[in-house]
Amino acid sequence: MDCIFCKIIRGDIPSQKLYEDELVYAFRDINPQAPFHALVVPKTHIGSADEITVDNSGAVAAVFTAIPKIAKAAGLGNGYRVITNIGEDGCQSVKHLHFHVLGGRKLPETMA
Ligand code: AMP
Repeated sequence: MDCIFCKIIRGDIPSQKLYEDELVYAFRDINPQAPFHALVVPKTHIGSADEITVDNSGAVAAVFTAIPKIAKAAGLGNGYRVITNIGEDGCQSVKHLHFHVLGGRKLPETMA
């Protein structure tokens, strides 16, 4: 499949890996928006959060189980933000479900 995040998960495109398990892969965003900016993705291809179903929700649960581990390893004990963009109006640029984990400083209150 011609999906950049699938290629990263397979190792066809290099990434700065932060975490990996059977269902989840996490790596540093190439264009960080905060001192710490990770992307946490299910290994299975899901187009966006709009495509989460009962059948694929196990991979999503695994992502949310990994996020606190990644945040703890990054020293984000004072808090952080998790964001997912969906579709055109959400400004989603990569059509493989991913969660941005941002932290390392006080983040702006506004998100839109
Ligand atoms: P979104 O706009 O929510 O779809 O987020 C896609 C994110 O992927 C952006 O923050 C990009 O900086 C990031 N990104 C795109 N290509 C790569 C890559 N090869 N390695 C790491 N991050 C990437």
